[in-house]
Amino acid sequence: WNPKTKRAHGVEFQKNGVKRIVLAKKEVILSAGAIGSPQILMLSGIGPEEHLREFDINVVSNLKGVGQNLNDHHSFFGITFLMNRTNTGSTIEKKVLNIDQFLKWLKLGRGPLSAPGGVTGIGYVNTKNNTDKSYPDTEYLFTIGSFNSDAGRILRKSMNIRKDVYDSIYGNINNRESWSIIPVVLRPKTRGSIKLKSKNPFKYPKLYYDFFQYEEDADVMLEAIKNVIKISETEAFQSIGSQIHKTPIRDCAHFEFGCDDYWRCAMKYFTSSLYHQSGTCKMGPQSDPDAVVNDQLQVYGVTNLRVVDASIFPIVPSAHLYAPTVMVGEKASDMIKETWKNYNENEPHKNTLRSRSSGHVPSLHSEGPGFIRNDHSWVFPYIWCLLSHFCLVFSFVLSSPESSPD
Ligand SMILES: Cc1cc2nc3c(=O)[nH]c(=O)nc-3n(C[C@H](O)[C@H](O)[C@H](O)COP(=O)(O)OP(=O)(O)OC[C@H]3O[C@@H](n4cnc5c(N)ncnc54)[C@H](O)[C@@H]3O)c2cc1C
Repeated sequence: WNPKTKRAHGVEFQKNGVKRIVLAKKEVILSAGAIGSPQILMLSGIGPEEHLREFDINVVSNLKGVGQNLNDHHSFFGITFLMNRTNTGSTIEKKVLNIDQFLKWLKLGRGPLSAPGGVTGIGYVNTKNNTDKSYPDTEYLFTIGSFNSDAGRILRKSMNIRKDVYDSIYGNINNRESWSIIPVVLRPKTRGSIKLKSKNPFKYPKLYYDFFQYEEDADVMLEAIKNVIKISETEAFQSIGSQIHKTPIRDCAHFEFGCDDYWRCAMKYFTSSLYHQSGTCKMGPQSDPDAVVNDQLQVYGVTNLRVVDASIFPIVPSAHLYAPTVMVGEKASDMIKETWKNYNENEPHKNTLRSRSSGHVPSLHSEGPGFIRNDHSWVFPYIWCLLSHFCLVFSFVLSSPESSPD
């Protein structure tokens, strides 16, 4: 930073144990994702002042929205359907993970290995709770198999399910043919936050996200679960003998399996993130006190710094986030090219670069991207280097045989 102009000059990083600094000729783009970007901003002095002071970090811009507004999608993994036959082959890991299936996938791109993450279908549905029907509030991920498909070998561990909990629910159906739908709440009201754990950039930040802090989110999930069960009762699924696996989650066994209270209880145990963290450097107008970037993705209160990743979504999109995030990147690259297209490298002082934003932003107009030439921070190390070389040569001359008194 240049503390006076609050202009981002470059990036300091460490690779293979060596600290390096890369200076930007034009501007700095931060793209470390919805968990990494707010962490890096806060470590660089951009964030909620009080929180930064806790870690003795000099405040460059007091932006209280940095790390706030953490959005995600809630997904429920607690429904398993057993079946007496499949239409496409087995769902059991032992029968699926073999050389024949691998070759089939390699040659034809077919078979169970061609379903990424075991997901074979996706549906988007409005529940009756959705007040804005212009886009859906739930998604349904149809999966081959369930937690029992590998007898608790990998899936259980990947979702961090304790062995005793797994055994109590799935122990009696290990390696049986099954399928599932994972219902997802796409527009939850719940919001979390990212906070620093330490000033050390190598320490992960803290992630706070209380699923179902709003009863409305649980209501939507309950509707989604009921829809899933209705789907399993259709002719198509009945033709393969679908039956819901009724062994209850131990801590919810005091409710009758399948009643609303049972599912509300089960949600507390089997709801997971869909890893769609977003919103922690929210885009918004200057009038929004929680906004971190403007509509050009430039960070408020400083210049020459943009954030380009999933953290800028004000609200998590009703979709999986990879494609929307690529769109953010594409749009940002257009905006960056537009900003700099008339820039004259030879006469940086004559440039008045302005973003096309609605005027409330610190504009990119500045000392100009030629700051490397204008910046005099090199002078001190340069003189220091000259002096040390001089001292070295001088001491060498003094200690050489010719100059010794003998
Ligand atoms: C397990 C998982 C499965 C997913 N599956 C899907 C899916 O099937 N479909 C879909 O659409 N979306 C999926 N997503 C979501 C999607 O991958 C993300 O939303 C998307 O990648 C976000 O892009 P991003 O650029 O914001 O962040 P990222 O893709 O996370 O990129 C951030 C980059 O910054 C780097 N970084 C972070 N901090 C630092 C630091 N301090 N120093 C240096 N580098 C740093 C990270 O290593 C990473 O390379 C999945 C996510 C996860 C975690």
